[in-house]
Amino acid sequence: MKQIALPQTRIFTLRISEKAARFTESVIRDMTRQALQHGAVNLAQGFPDFPAPDELKAAAQQAIADDINQYAITWGAQNFRRALAVKFARTMGFEIDPEREITVCCGSTEAMIATLLALVDPGEEVIVFEPFYENYGPDAILSGATPLYVTLHPPAHEDGEWTFDPAELRAAFSAKTRAIILNTPHNPTGKVFTRTELELIRDLCVEFDVLAISDEIYEHILYDGTAHIAPVTIDGMRERTVTINSLSKSYSVTGWRVGWAIAPPAITAAIRKVHDFLTVGAAAPLQAAGATALALPDAYYSKLAEGYAHKRSVLLKALRAAGFKAFRPRGAYYIMTGISAFGFENDHSFAAHLVEKVGVASVPGSSFYSDPARGAQQVRFAFCKRPETLEAAIANLATLSGKSAR
Ligand code: PLP
Repeated sequence: MKQIALPQTRIFTLRISEKAARFTESVIRDMTRQALQHGAVNLAQGFPDFPAPDELKAAAQQAIADDINQYAITWGAQNFRRALAVKFARTMGFEIDPEREITVCCGSTEAMIATLLALVDPGEEVIVFEPFYENYGPDAILSGATPLYVTLHPPAHEDGEWTFDPAELRAAFSAKTRAIILNTPHNPTGKVFTRTELELIRDLCVEFDVLAISDEIYEHILYDGTAHIAPVTIDGMRERTVTINSLSKSYSVTGWRVGWAIAPPAITAAIRKVHDFLTVGAAAPLQAAGATALALPDAYYSKLAEGYAHKRSVLLKALRAAGFKAFRPRGAYYIMTGISAFGFENDHSFAAHLVEKVGVASVPGSSFYSDPARGAQQVRFAFCKRPETLEAAIANLATLSGKSAR
């Protein structure tokens, strides 16, 4: 057999970018993998394990059958943008121009990074309330921005509100501040920002000429009569707000990857350029089906929130009975908990014990903080799950008890 002479092997020197080296893999997504590995009930990642609404599934199937299978317009299929504008006017109370103020993206995940890349320059600062949804840290790093964190303090009592110190917020603003990332209802705390808080934020945004980037992906998941107030509806915020949202949570289709950014035309033009080169566009047939989702009646949203309210009370009760300090969320579908009663060194050792020995996956609290020490005695549970999933988790959690848990 003829021998082929291979060129002399060279050593490949692995070097990753300085940006990629500055953050870790997503802890939330890793906990889902661990849940699968250990056969644990997954209360870690925020995706529903129950079916999506039938009419949406039928609309998606129909769109593919109708051959809506090629690239949509890069910033979003026209029908979907029109449906978004109608829905926006319905919930926000004012009209937007679907031709110039909407960018449809691959989930709100892409909408957020496209917005930051389009609007923030390296060296500029972006203010983020912490704990924060873990994507915002890497998003800021990838866009070259320096994140500045303002603390959300847990309530003294489990049923109280998470609050921030207005003086600490004011101190975070400076001539270097380009944007503030808002998330209401908030992941992981379930905080819903009040009008007074948003007006305070507005005053600072106006004084320092800062943009607000508002992630409102849980806008329809609210409890105890709490109202969602969109920052863009606060006087003086319309021209400086990018409102980000998606189909993921309101319609229980996190895998569809259809989201959007809504902003005044000049801002939208910049976001559209970045979005086009990042991903070209979101799935065309799922945008077509998204128009059906956006036309669902108000009753759909009340039912969604009622269903989650029940799940919230079931899990809150069980967590408290198992020895957690469980903070009552006002919105979204997570419960942030204090774990000091269990006597573990930190959130990672506790979450590892929980997934490996108790059979429940949670998210270590430190993944929501810039300084891991601040979340070292917290873990987060998601309750967007079927009754039987929650029951299985609750049965497993009942095997934990106070300081004797180890
Ligand atoms: N923003 C927040 C606050 C979230 O909690 C999540 C997912 O859990 C996302 C964005 C991701 O949303 P999407 O599926 O639209 O990318």
